[in-house]
Amino acid sequence: MKLGVFIERDGILNLPRVERQQQVSPLMLEDFKINLAVAPLLKKLKAAGLTIIVTTNQPGISRGYLIRRELDRMHDLLRRSLPMIDDLLICAHDDTDYCPCRKPKPGLFSEAAFKWGLTLDRSFVVSDKWQDAEAARAVGCTSLLVNSPWIGTAHHDFVLPDFSAVVEKILHLQTATVAA
Ligand SMILES: [Zn+2]
Repeated sequence: MKLGVFIERDGILNLPRVERQQQVSPLMLEDFKINLAVAPLLKKLKAAGLTIIVTTNQPGISRGYLIRRELDRMHDLLRRSLPMIDDLLICAHDDTDYCPCRKPKPGLFSEAAFKWGLTLDRSFVVSDKWQDAEAARAVGCTSLLVNSPWIGTAHHDFVLPDFSAVVEKILHLQTATVAA
């Protein structure tokens, strides 16, 4: 059984600006601030045999203010900086595109599970936003939210103070699952 950890990009792996109580996704490589403090934590997940999948909603592509080539440059840098990342899936759509992959829809998780052979109902979702927890619920993943202004009031499995606490929790839950 292969298990995945689906990690939201903005707010976990990079540090976006906050404007009017909203995270603002970077539009240019120069504004893309990678959170290198996560590197040893991703290594721990990897050492535990978990597949690390990054997911991100980037509706700026559909809306026309984010250039795909610039996004690719950011993601090249992200994967070079954090080589523990196995895959990175993007929803480039807007609400009005009615796609199956814009979180809180779970399409990116399903796509990655198919591609990597992951067992979704034993896999984990990490984010600082409610949309990921909602998508996790839809496909049976365990959701772990880092406390933030964006966790909402809908279902989530765990809220923890930071990514380090999330990783400890995942490793604990995974050990329990393997033992069961
Ligand atoms: Zn989409």
